Amino acid sequence: MRFYLTTAIDYVNNRPHLGTAYEKIAADIIARYHRLIGDEVRFVMGNDEHSQNVFKRAKEQGVDPLTYCNQMEGEFRKAWQRLNISFDDFIRTTEPRHKAAVAAMVQKSFDNGDVYEGVYEGWYCVSCEEFKPEKSLVDGLCPVHRTKPDWIKEKNYFFKLSKYRDALLAHYAAHPTFVAPESRRNEMLRLLEGGLEDISVSRAG
Ligand SMILES: [Zn+2]
Repeated sequence: MRFYLTTAIDYVNNRPHLGTAYEKIAADIIARYHRLIGDEVRFVMGNDEHSQNVFKRAKEQGVDPLTYCNQMEGEFRKAWQRLNISFDDFIRTTEPRHKAAVAAMVQKSFDNGDVYEGVYEGWYCVSCEEFKPEKSLVDGLCPVHRTKPDWIKEKNYFFKLSKYRDALLAHYAAHPTFVAPESRRNEMLRLLEGGLEDISVSRAG
């Protein structure tokens, strides 16, 4: 059987730590198990180098972002080597092959009528790198960082996620083991039943 496994990709504005290592060790165990039982395994990890925080950290250190990302790649690879993590490929989001894959995917969505231009406004936490729903704020502050988010209004591209709600529900019903474990499957079903909103898939500037 072919078995594909990926971890989340790490932002490089911090060095690898216990939290990042925990996930890689768990994934490594799964990958090694599947190789042992004879599966054809592809285990992928990588670094996310596109982030305002990465840009900020590079500036603090007085180097250009790519130079900084190159240095951090070394830090991450060193950590994974010391932990003997058996990944098959390591992908950086600044690599041409990654850009090509993203461009192809977005183009396909666009051609399919799933991407449109709209205006997005809301509270944006730079540290979380995401918009925060008004009701999630605590005394007007980001509940994670305890800092005041910025009110941002920008032209964005949106993905028509709402269009896929019924198709996803039908798919999960037809393939009960598609999402595992069951607790996560139920979480997904509740989310879908509550309705999906289109999501912003770009940043201005
Ligand atoms: Zn935050």
